[in-house]
Amino acid sequence: MNILYLSSEAVPFAKTGGLGDVSGALPRVLAASEKVTLMMPGYRTDEIQRARAEVVDVFSLRIGAGTHDAVIKKTDISANHSVCFVHNDHFFARDGIYGDDAGDYPDNFTRFLFFQKAALEYVRRKGLRFDIVHGNDWQTALVPLLMRIDPLAAHFAGTRSVFTIHNLGYQGIFPAAAFAETALPPYLFSPEHLEFFGDLNCLKSGIIFSDRLLTVSPAYAREIVSRDQGFGLDGLLAKYAHKLSGILNGVDYSQWDPQDDPFIVQRYSLRSLPEKTRNKEALFSELGLAGQSRSPLMIMISRISQQKGVEALPRLLPLLFQEDIYFVFLGKGDRSLTKEIADLAGRFPRRMRFLNAFDEKLAHRLQAAGDLLFMPSTYEPCGLNQIYGLRYGTVPIVRATGGLDDSIREFDPTTLHGTGFKFRGNDITVILAVIRNALRLFLDRSIWSRIQENGMAMDFSWERAAASYLTLYKNILSEDTQHV
Ligand code: ADP
Repeated sequence: MNILYLSSEAVPFAKTGGLGDVSGALPRVLAASEKVTLMMPGYRTDEIQRARAEVVDVFSLRIGAGTHDAVIKKTDISANHSVCFVHNDHFFARDGIYGDDAGDYPDNFTRFLFFQKAALEYVRRKGLRFDIVHGNDWQTALVPLLMRIDPLAAHFAGTRSVFTIHNLGYQGIFPAAAFAETALPPYLFSPEHLEFFGDLNCLKSGIIFSDRLLTVSPAYAREIVSRDQGFGLDGLLAKYAHKLSGILNGVDYSQWDPQDDPFIVQRYSLRSLPEKTRNKEALFSELGLAGQSRSPLMIMISRISQQKGVEALPRLLPLLFQEDIYFVFLGKGDRSLTKEIADLAGRFPRRMRFLNAFDEKLAHRLQAAGDLLFMPSTYEPCGLNQIYGLRYGTVPIVRATGGLDDSIREFDPTTLHGTGFKFRGNDITVILAVIRNALRLFLDRSIWSRIQENGMAMDFSWERAAASYLTLYKNILSEDTQHV
């Protein structure tokens, strides 16, 4: 099979969140048996520069009234796996991926329209044939449509499209005027197609025109067809539910395993679990916290957004800090929520640290140091941190939603099965009770190490998830042969 994977970010080249992790790992793992090309914008990151990709094509594209040059650079990662970067200095040679401190770049629609058109145009110009084109999120959601419209339709006639929604909260909604830039037939700007209450909604294109629609966990696939989780698209998603399913993301254990993590103070594994404590002691001392080796440390590593449930912290933490517990938050994002977290850290300097940064190495150190990982997301398509937490013996306490519900099994003290703790709803007293229960079990060394061991033994490797993707790709292709 020949697969084209399109994404606006991919590790190690550019990352702002889980999409980057997935787009880095899945193509690589699929390439163990299939031919895979990853295409992404050529941002100005060190990692893309270091990739030393070579120019394979240069052409110009009309977007709206303007003409823009596309420079396609390619590098081979392995015999079956190549990466193509779509370069255009005007659109992509910036410090951010989607925006800067002032917010999202105002021309994001044009930037990613250019990326999508340039990627498909390159494929057409070079006569490359793909069985599957796999797009992700709104930045590549026009692809399933563009490849069915002239002048690309003939070239992609034998290609099937798969589209993954990583987060329904981000739909790529732009003023109606943006539609003109697409040069798509005017009938497509209608409520049945891309119009959404007078605006242009990019995600609708991926939902309507893809041959198969995916989300990143089975639970999230069920949730998004419901009104309270559908972000206004539940009706549309319900209409296409027959082609919608969920595959839980894998994690890249070559990056996230305390056994050979180069960023942590003390490496450890299931067999040397007590050594984990040295990471906590090191973090306490690095951050000037007075905690001891037996003091529980709860961590949170998160984008700061309403989605991640950070709004609960100002009510929860003052109550929680009545217990003997330390809390370290690593995250960046929304300004006013950031201020609330900073205020809290200021109020509880003996108990809490707020590390307002995006720092991969620090994320590893926190995972290694923590006893508990808190993830109170209001919704969570998959979530990766809780899965990393499992492998690091950092026991997740999560809201039972989406991928959090799918990946964490409630610990049962009678059977000793389970990997973490879950709560439902928004009631602070309920959340507090669940954390207090975890802290009570933390005092019992044998029970606690059992919970940690249960989590560390779990296998969420990409190899498993990739097998589900391959089955799905093969099914689409075989269905088509029957239809011919
Ligand atoms: P989302 O994609 O919604 O942000 P996920 O849990 O799926 O959430 O993925 C988040 C990824 O981003 C994880 O790899 C996590 O470690 C990383 N991450 C989030 N915030 C930070 C941060 N401030 N510093 C370093 N890594 C972060």
